[in-house]
Amino acid sequence: MARVCTSAQTTGVKQMEQAHPVIKSAFLEDILRPKRIVFIVNPKAGTNLQRHIRKSVEQHLDHKKFIYGIWHTERAGHAAELARQAQAEGYDIVVAVGGDGSINEVASVLLHTDTILGIIPAGSGNGLAMHLGYGRDLDKAVRKLNTAAVKSIDCGMLNGHPFVNLAGIGFDGFVAKQMQGSRWRGFLPYLFKSIRAGLSFTPHTCTIETENRTLTETCFVVTVANGPMYGYNFQIAPDARLDDGLFSIVIFKNVPRWQYFAAIPSSLNGRLYHAGFVEHFTAQRVKISCTGDTFVHIDGESIESPGDLEFEILPKALKVLVPSMVSG
Ligand SMILES: [Mg+2]
Repeated sequence: MARVCTSAQTTGVKQMEQAHPVIKSAFLEDILRPKRIVFIVNPKAGTNLQRHIRKSVEQHLDHKKFIYGIWHTERAGHAAELARQAQAEGYDIVVAVGGDGSINEVASVLLHTDTILGIIPAGSGNGLAMHLGYGRDLDKAVRKLNTAAVKSIDCGMLNGHPFVNLAGIGFDGFVAKQMQGSRWRGFLPYLFKSIRAGLSFTPHTCTIETENRTLTETCFVVTVANGPMYGYNFQIAPDARLDDGLFSIVIFKNVPRWQYFAAIPSSLNGRLYHAGFVEHFTAQRVKISCTGDTFVHIDGESIESPGDLEFEILPKALKVLVPSMVSG
């Protein structure tokens, strides 16, 4: 099951050896050859872990299995350019070293291809990486690549923009806007801005249509989730699965603000859906129309998205390295 060779493939190799001895060597060579892996590092990611990536890769990556490169981004959007370059150069695996925003850039390029996404979490929150089991320790995360399995996961699309973890409308979009361009990253600035935004944000009335239902509600937050959590183990959609072909839609109805703060402990242990102000359901397609201007984020990055918001799920569109012993 290690890296890109499954037991089913091994059986397939043996059958092919017997049936087609001529193509045996090419097939085996492809499976047994060291995989080419490139680390795309965002030097401005939320933590400073990425400063130690070269040393960690030299010491902890299995050099019998991988031939590696390390590239650094120089500007916004550069991670996507480098991911395209990696594909053109025939890399098997592209590792995003950063937060959900960096993962988003790389994943957007790898959608519907055989190039595999790896993750070294070095952002402020790292919701997707934490869910997949990469953890916060750089050396351990690098070692996990050595034995990780390949898994296909869903991706979301919002008006043509891909996202791998979460998209949000309302309060969390407002917080993402506040964090945009902020020099202060990390948990405390995020918490401070969230509390301040929580007190000043004005909810909008939103109409949410799916293939099964339509509802209109004054919403503090509408989250369209592919993965279950933001960073810091805050589980906004504890039932979200990355490979079920469905979004989990989570709505915070408009209630006195203290109720949201009181529900924070529940969100950390996967019991947010027990809160009285939460409504949740699943769907493949979602259309959201809100009164007035609202705020939108995808994978934690604030985006301009005027007008109706149309979401579509792309089932199993992205190949990802998942640490062993952890299901997606
Ligand atoms: Mg899902």
